[in-house]
Amino acid sequence: MNATTTSSCLPVQITDRRRSGLLVIEWSDGASSVLHHGRLRQQCRCAACTQRRRSGQAPAAPAALADIRPVADKGLNLVFADGHDRGIYPWAYLRELGDERA
Ligand SMILES: [Zn+2]
Repeated sequence: MNATTTSSCLPVQITDRRRSGLLVIEWSDGASSVLHHGRLRQQCRCAACTQRRRSGQAPAAPAALADIRPVADKGLNLVFADGHDRGIYPWAYLRELGDERA
């Protein structure tokens, strides 16, 4: 492992395109991730949402992003319009979600 591997997962710019419901993250290696707000809500990894998925219940309804709070240099705490604010999204997870073709 070297420093390049680590820095490839750091964002250089985060843009919330609210009108289109997209969160766009540009990474230090030149890649960019386009993430749908509703999908981010459904992919929340907090304890409650994880439990819900594990128990086979339907995922939470998609919701728009209401706020974005940085979590030190680790990632983002996303707050959704349905009031859900427990989800922490580490950079690596956001990158992974962006790499998938929805
Ligand atoms: Zn959650």
